[in-house]
Amino acid sequence: MINKNYIRLGNVRSVIRELFEYGNARKREIGEENVFDFSLGNPSVPPPEEFKQVLCELIRNTDPVQLHGYTSAQGAPQVRAAVAAYINGTFGDHVTADCIYMTCGAAAALTITLCALCNGGDEVVTFTPYFPEYAVFAAQAGATLVPVRSLPGTFDIDLAALASALTPKTKAVIINSPNNPSGVVYPEQSIRQLCALLEEHSAKTGSPVYLISDEPYRELVYGGERVPYVMDYYKNSIVCYSFSKSLSVPGERIGYIAVNKQAEGEVYAAVCGAGRSLGYVCAPSLLQFAVAKLMGRTSDISVYRRNRDRLCSALESFGYKTVRPQGAFYLFVEALEADAAAFCERAKKFELLLVPGDGFGCKGYVRIAYCVSPQMIERSLPAFKALANSYKNG
Ligand code: PLP
Repeated sequence: MINKNYIRLGNVRSVIRELFEYGNARKREIGEENVFDFSLGNPSVPPPEEFKQVLCELIRNTDPVQLHGYTSAQGAPQVRAAVAAYINGTFGDHVTADCIYMTCGAAAALTITLCALCNGGDEVVTFTPYFPEYAVFAAQAGATLVPVRSLPGTFDIDLAALASALTPKTKAVIINSPNNPSGVVYPEQSIRQLCALLEEHSAKTGSPVYLISDEPYRELVYGGERVPYVMDYYKNSIVCYSFSKSLSVPGERIGYIAVNKQAEGEVYAAVCGAGRSLGYVCAPSLLQFAVAKLMGRTSDISVYRRNRDRLCSALESFGYKTVRPQGAFYLFVEALEADAAAFCERAKKFELLLVPGDGFGCKGYVRIAYCVSPQMIERSLPAFKALANSYKNG
């Protein structure tokens, strides 16, 4: 018999994908410019010019057999050395090339990391609202995802809620800052307190709780906020990084895992083993060589900042309640009725495609991905206003 779990996963499209497909069909019916598709976190700004230049140079000047050939399973040594040098130069001295594993984006990085750390029955804690695929990745690792609510109003870490969620089975905690979907950046104080609590719990149970930082949005902050680097605060830490959003290259599938060299246990060996057993070896070689030359660079993210400011101010003036996001490119807004799915259905009548927050573990909210053109934001504002008015008018 074929694996029932995978049949289920394959048949049930995520709500976001479902909306995206609906949006494409609707655009064919009524025209692209009349549909306000805020469903997907697909960057709307092009990669930086340097990205094209680096690719061209690599193709022109590198031996094609080497450029397009297999690299080591965990990534080309010189690429891993470049990633390690960047991390050590930007943050503290935390890694060597042998702590880095190149992956197809953060999705693969997270799946490998969770499979490397977890044994059947383990628990993986994360904070609401969270990226829904965490539950799928944890299940793949034989673990259970334990969502812990964040502080109402700010979506910062609720330490008391976390303390009561930790058990002897807790193997890891996943944080995502800047956050999809709330846009929140955890302040340094929260990271310090989180790490102190995890230290305390690890000491009590005698086995480490690993801290996994999922960082596809690290560089996407709009007010100069500092995004604390977990390795500066916690030795049992692993960073799952992606270039998808920072360089606007989500389709190219490139990222990495960085394991703190001080982490307890043979974490990096387990990462290599998990990557091997999942078949996630030798990330795309051309992209590996390209990102090694583009560490720390971003596409022009000023567009997202302008979109955020315009959208937040307009929505607030129409009566929506928002927590102004500090980073990433999502706005998490209170729905105007208790049932967020019903609210999103009503929004569709105004050609607004919004994602209900239920899948992110937060009822009563919707996610608006504002990584779209500023023109679309402008065109969509009357629809947001009409949607709000439709509640005022009963
Ligand atoms: N983690 C979060 C929080 C995300 O928002 C995403 C993608 O949107 C991912 C992981 C996966 O990113 P990637 O494209 O690098 O696989």
